[in-house]
Amino acid sequence: MHVPTVKLLIDGEFVESASETWRDVINPATQEVLARVPLATPEEVDAAVAAAKRAFLSWKKTPIGTRARIFLKYQQLIREHMQALAALLTAEQGKTLADAEGDIFRGLEVVEHAAGIGHLQLGEYAENVAGSVDTYTVLQPLGVCAGITPFNFPAMIPLWMFPMAIATGNTFVLKPSEQDPMVTMRLVELALEAGIPPGVLNVVHGAAEVVDALCDHPDIKALSFVGSTRVGTHVYQRASLAGKRVQCMMGAKNHAIVLPDANRAQTLSQLTGAAFGAAGQRCMALSVAILVGEARTWIPELVDKARALQVGPGRDNPDLGPLISCAARERVTGLIAQGVAEGATLELDGRTVSVPGHEQGNFVGPTIFSGVRPQMEIYRQEIFGPVLCLMEADTLEEAIALVNANPNGNGTALFTQSGAAARQFQEEIDVGQVGINVPIPVPVPLFSFTGSRASKLGDLGPYGKQVVLFYTQTKTVTSRWFDDDAGSGRVNTTISLK
Ligand code: NAD
Repeated sequence: MHVPTVKLLIDGEFVESASETWRDVINPATQEVLARVPLATPEEVDAAVAAAKRAFLSWKKTPIGTRARIFLKYQQLIREHMQALAALLTAEQGKTLADAEGDIFRGLEVVEHAAGIGHLQLGEYAENVAGSVDTYTVLQPLGVCAGITPFNFPAMIPLWMFPMAIATGNTFVLKPSEQDPMVTMRLVELALEAGIPPGVLNVVHGAAEVVDALCDHPDIKALSFVGSTRVGTHVYQRASLAGKRVQCMMGAKNHAIVLPDANRAQTLSQLTGAAFGAAGQRCMALSVAILVGEARTWIPELVDKARALQVGPGRDNPDLGPLISCAARERVTGLIAQGVAEGATLELDGRTVSVPGHEQGNFVGPTIFSGVRPQMEIYRQEIFGPVLCLMEADTLEEAIALVNANPNGNGTALFTQSGAAARQFQEEIDVGQVGINVPIPVPVPLFSFTGSRASKLGDLGPYGKQVVLFYTQTKTVTSRWFDDDAGSGRVNTTISLK
């Protein structure tokens, strides 16, 4: 059977890689090989960066309105192709069709935001900062920027990156996840159709070596990474050492705190959806719930809800699909076994789930542990599978202390009906993205994604207002225009502007 190859995009052309190293893109529900993806050669990475560098010369001078209109067109094209994009995403990534549309939609929101670049990339102006002296700022693009993305949101996360980088006047080299690059490539094709000129957006495929080449490349000015903490820390250090501006959005262990006054039915449904949706393969998945006081009696009802979820191939729209790879399944089931060995109580075991007709799929069903303690491996590691760890606390203060003692700071949620408790939580919790009766509090692009502590390196977020600052250099211009006969022309050797 003919297996298609995934192309590189260099200088506006989709080209076959000359690489000798390729890997399969595999449907995680069936193990069908969907395509082959190359690990690009060093020469191909150089060619992509060189194309981006050349294109920057004219792209940076392209009027804001022209840039904005490309993204207006692009958002329309994404909407028109939504169903086909979702089907492709589900085939290679595994998540349900409904969730695949959500993945695309959350990226589409950033494209819409990029279309408003005229309002976002504005400088400031102050008149008369000294006698007849004015100061203003301009936000200028940096040059060639690069992005490295993870497997779990192959639409949303590339769309966090290149639209805002390009809308602000930069050119871009994208390195998608080698596990599921196909929907990303389709989105890239649509971006060219929307009018992005040759060289402004380039794509290279690969793994560690290609990422290292991007970190080291002297012509890349800024690098945005989303992925695991281990790789992100390496990327941050390596690219910073090479003088780049870097932002790394990384791994997580997101806690929900459930107070006994919370709306029971709503809380249990939200918790179940946020723990097991996308088979737990979200950086904002709720993977720990701390049940406070009487809320610990809700465990049997939570287990019943989780047990009722349907597991199956994403294209049938069950509640959760398979894990991305056989290796991911092995790792998750291994961690479940370790949790049992370490003495946590396995309330629900997803290892035995069976999906008729899809025996080869990487399925793990919803799994719940109670009696989890901080030193256990199932608590210390980001499992990135459908596994929920339950812990208990007597008070809100005790629960907050537990969350704050965890090194990660991506997301957290409190379930309560008490405004005072919510106020206390918001103030004292040391996590970047806080939900109050909202289980996955990922902000829309009017704001920025704001993970913190071990979940993030670099100061600025990947979209929203912060990313305009990430992808631009603020230049201040201080100017004075002399009247022909003003002043004496006296020499002033002080620092004063007078
Ligand atoms: P990953 O770190 O394995 O891969 C991310 C990228 O890094 C990929 O493009 C991959 O090719 C590359 N890479 C892999 N190994 C490398 C190495 N040794 N050296 C250099 N580059 C390497 O992550 P993943 O498994 O694809 O994605 C899941 C992880 O991403 C989870 O930890 C999840 O929490 C995190 N994530 C974080 C966010 C966030 O916004 N904080 C969002 C989505 C996913």
